[in-house]
Amino acid sequence: MITPMNDEGALVLFSGGQDSATCLAWALSRFSRVETIGFDYRQRHRIELEVRQEFIKELRAIFPAWSARLGEDRVLDAGALAAIGQTAMIEDVAIEMGANGLPNTFVPGRNILFLTLATAVAYRRGLRHIVTGVCETDYSGYPDCRDDTIKATQVALNLGMEARFALHTPLMWIDKAGTWAMAMEHGGRDLVNLINRGTHSCYIGDHTTRHDWGFGCGECPACELRAGGWRRWLKGV
Ligand code: ZN
Repeated sequence: MITPMNDEGALVLFSGGQDSATCLAWALSRFSRVETIGFDYRQRHRIELEVRQEFIKELRAIFPAWSARLGEDRVLDAGALAAIGQTAMIEDVAIEMGANGLPNTFVPGRNILFLTLATAVAYRRGLRHIVTGVCETDYSGYPDCRDDTIKATQVALNLGMEARFALHTPLMWIDKAGTWAMAMEHGGRDLVNLINRGTHSCYIGDHTTRHDWGFGCGECPACELRAGGWRRWLKGV
């Protein structure tokens, strides 16, 4: 156990990717009650919605103590993002950098919307801690992944709901190699292997090509980040 168990409950934004899977393990090491939430926004990599169910099933089987603390999983419909459109994360267009320095996989407002929806669920479920895998160390440059955005969102949500939610970002200041190290720290090789084979990061939804770092096209920004982190972590192990 990394830190003493906290009696308060947590809600983890679990997409089915490496980062949020690591955050789920982080939360299960700290909180006595953990629930998960995902979002269907018609993402091109919809495979992550299937992968996340299977991941939870396997996690329960491999880590019975965590399974006892792991409660409900839910997927909310965030299809409004698809209606807004014009992003390579949803539409079948080439992934490239925009004139504003952001890749066209950027979905404006996505993380703020997800955090708002998750916190509304946490309000109903009596869960005080919200855990998200956003990171501004080794990332695609999305401004809504930055620490300041998360802190400002926490303030806005607490004011708007007259509450004291704590938004946790365990990965904010570590790179992708550090994310693998964190998985190792919390669940050892069994967890690293499960995250490697059982999560999905690839933006274009390739879940058939297997690499040493997991499934993916190997070329999109998400695959590049994941592959680079895996290699750096292996060197350091
Ligand atoms: Zn890819």
